[in-house]
Amino acid sequence: MDSIATKPTRTRLNCRDFANQRDPIYPPWALATEKFLDACSRCGACITDCPEHILETGAGGIPQVSFVSGACTFCGVCVNVCKDRALVRHIDGVEQAPWTVVASIGEDCLATLNIACQECADHCEQHAIRFRPLIDGTIEPRVVAARCTGCGACVRPCPGNTIGMRPA
Ligand code: SF4
Ligand code: SF4
Repeated sequence: MDSIATKPTRTRLNCRDFANQRDPIYPPWALATEKFLDACSRCGACITDCPEHILETGAGGIPQVSFVSGACTFCGVCVNVCKDRALVRHIDGVEQAPWTVVASIGEDCLATLNIACQECADHCEQHAIRFRPLIDGTIEPRVVAARCTGCGACVRPCPGNTIGMRPA
């Protein structure tokens, strides 16, 4: 077990943290936080209409994302039903990024324990997750931030329950 002890330490992330994290992930294309909180009337239309059922009611009735339930397909339904324009996909005709989060793999990743698992990579259409063999014989998972869309498709399938999101 020495090889495991010498692994570089990573910030522990767990998908359950989505429910408890201090900074919730607001729906895609949400305005900057202050403006979003001001504009959103807490009507819940985006929560009701998201076909992937990944939006839930957060603190104060504000909608937030839960990747425990699924992944965002960036279909834009939430934007279309937001009458308050708290979710805005285009500004001055220019399409905005849906959000600025990327996946982050935590320390309970089974691959790092030499258990054969690449579930997250198997579910990543962007091919953003790579597994690198280290000199000590262990495997290091890595998210290529430039490829990650933050869709969250890797979160639910992870048997180690150890994938979270971090700011890009
Ligand atoms: S873009 Fe589509 S899948 Fe993503 S949160 Fe909005 S409605 Fe749901
Ligand atoms: S969040 Fe989506 S794009 Fe990013 S690593 Fe996970 S599955 Fe791939």
